[in-house]
Amino acid sequence: MASVVCNNCDEPHSAPVVTEDGSYGHYCPDIGFVPLDRTYLQAVLPDFPQVIDRLADAFDCRQRKISALHGQTWRIGSVETASEPVMLYFHPTLQSEDEARDLQNALGREVRSEWRLVVTSRGTLPMAELVAVRLDDLVEMDVETGLLRGVSDPGTLAGVPRRNPGGRPSAYGPVISRLIEERINNGQAVKGRNKEAEAVLNLYLQRNPDKSAPSLSSVKEYVTKLRTGQ
Ligand SMILES: [Zn+2]
Repeated sequence: MASVVCNNCDEPHSAPVVTEDGSYGHYCPDIGFVPLDRTYLQAVLPDFPQVIDRLADAFDCRQRKISALHGQTWRIGSVETASEPVMLYFHPTLQSEDEARDLQNALGREVRSEWRLVVTSRGTLPMAELVAVRLDDLVEMDVETGLLRGVSDPGTLAGVPRRNPGGRPSAYGPVISRLIEERINNGQAVKGRNKEAEAVLNLYLQRNPDKSAPSLSSVKEYVTKLRTGQ
C-alpha cells in the first residue's frame, strides 16, 4: 500500500514504494529511480487518493469520489453485491470517539444509502447503525502487481440479507461458468465486472443463437461468484 507523491519532476504523481539494491525508493518516469530515506518513509503519510482508487477498483465501484468527503472520511463508492448495492467508505483509523464523530459527521452530509460499510486500517469502534471492518478483512494485496483484491463479500460484511436463499440454481449456471473460465484461461477477461459480464453474454449468444439467454444481471452474479470464490 505504501506509495509516495513524487515531487522530483515537473508533474507531481503517485508512485509505489519499491526496493532496489536494498534501498527504498520510487520510480519516476522522468528521472528514474529516486531513493528514499527510511526515516522519511516512516514519517510520510499514506497516499490516500491511491488507496481509495485501488479499493474502488477492487470492487468495481461506482460513484467513487476522488477527494475526502469531510475530515478524513472518503467515499470509495457503491459496490454491486449478490443482493443489494453497498456504499463503501474509508476512514484511516477508528480508535477514538473523535474519529468516530468525524466519520459520523462526514456521513451526515451524504445521501443515506440503505447499506453502508466503513473500511478502516485500525480499530473498529462500535457505532450505531454503521458497520466497520478492517482493511485486511476485506482485501488482500497482490504482491506482484500491488493491486488489491476482495477476499470477502461487502454485502455479507454489511449485513445485507441474502436474496432467494435455497432458490433453484439457474439452468444457465454451468454453461456460463464455463464461458467465464474460458475467457480467464485465454487471458481475455477484462477487469470491469460489467464489461466482463457483457462479453460473456455476447459469447453465449454467439454460440447459442437459437437458445434462450440469461439476463445480464445474472451473468454478472456468476462473474462475481467466480471472482470472489463464493
Ligand atoms: Zn516524478
